[in-house]
This record gives sequence, C-alpha cells and structure tokens, in this order.
Amino acid sequence: MPNPTNAAVTIVQGDITEQDVDAVVNAANSSLLGGGGVDGAIHRKGGPDILAECRELRGSRYAEGLPTGQAVATTAGRMPARWVIHTVGPVWSKSEDRSELLASCYRESLGVARELGARTVAFPAISTGVYGWPLDDGARIAVATVREEAEGFDEVRFVLFDERSHGTFAAEL
Ligand code: ADP
Repeated sequence: MPNPTNAAVTIVQGDITEQDVDAVVNAANSSLLGGGGVDGAIHRKGGPDILAECRELRGSRYAEGLPTGQAVATTAGRMPARWVIHTVGPVWSKSEDRSELLASCYRESLGVARELGARTVAFPAISTGVYGWPLDDGARIAVATVREEAEGFDEVRFVLFDERSHGTFAAEL
C-alpha cells in the first residue's frame, strides 16, 4: 500500500530509549506502574519522574488503569525524547480476534503525539514480546496502521530490539 502522507516511515534495529525523537511509545501494561521488556527499559533509562506522572494518572483520569488500545503521555525524564506515550497492547488470543485493539494502540498513540505537537515518533513492536502476538501479524498491523495515520509527522520510526523483529518489520515495509 502506498504511504499517502509523505511522512517517512522508517525502521531501525536498536534501543527505543536512545532514540532522539520527540516522542517514544511505551508498550505499557494497564497499571501504568511499570513492567518488563520495553516498559522496564523506559522507566530505568528515563528515571523516576515518569513513574511519578504515571501514579498521578492512576490517581485521576485512569483510576481503573489505562484500557487496552488507548494511549496517554508523560514526560520522558532523562531520555533524549520529550515525551513517552504509554499504550496498552492486547494480549494475543487464539480464540478472539484482537487485531483492532492492536491497531488502536498505533492510531491512538499517533493521535496523542499529534495533540502534543510531536513531529517525530518512535514505536516498539507492541504486544509481540510478553503479550505473545505473532511477530509477522504484529508487524503487518503496525505498518498498515502507521501508514494510514502518519499524516503530518516528519518521521514515524519503528525501533526493533532484535534481529528477527527487525527483519520481519523490514520485510513488511
Ligand atoms: P508486550 O508486553 O507489549 O509484548 P514487550 O516489552 O514484552 O511488550 O515486547 C515488545 C517488543 O519490544 C519486543 O519485541 C521486545 O523485544 C522489544 N523490546 C524490549 N526492550 C526494548 C527496547 N529497549 N527498545 C526497543 N524494543 C524493545
């Protein structure tokens, strides 16, 4: 599918916490209070300010937690980025099609980024780690949704931690 937007959709193998972009997206969990994988890396690198803001969100707008498929921003602490956009991917299910929720993560995160005025955004491969989403399907949904929603950004970058994820996303792009 052609990219209708002129925004560059790019891909790199690396660590999302080191990306010099306006906003990095976190594959968070609904508690917003930290976890493993990319979530743990972001909180470790960004420092305690991010968690403090997440706790505030849990005390106000998201007392029940951030629902799957939605997104919310905090500052990025000590990372080069200005903002972290936390989104909650769906856990993979064999019996239920949750693709729309995964697409929603990418769409809602870009919506939040747009509201913030971010021009460059970096995404990890949401749900494809601990949440068990098959990598090729996760890459297909990620690339299709970002291509549809990237209008107005200078760059939307996929940051893949390992070679296998990088290869799969590269093939999809
Ligand atoms: P989820 O719970 O949504 O599956 P994970 O954090 O477990 O999220 O995994 C999502 C993807 O992020 C996986 O491909 C994992 O290898 C990758 N990942 C882990 N750490 C980093 C990092 N520092 N930068 C970019 N990607 C990362």
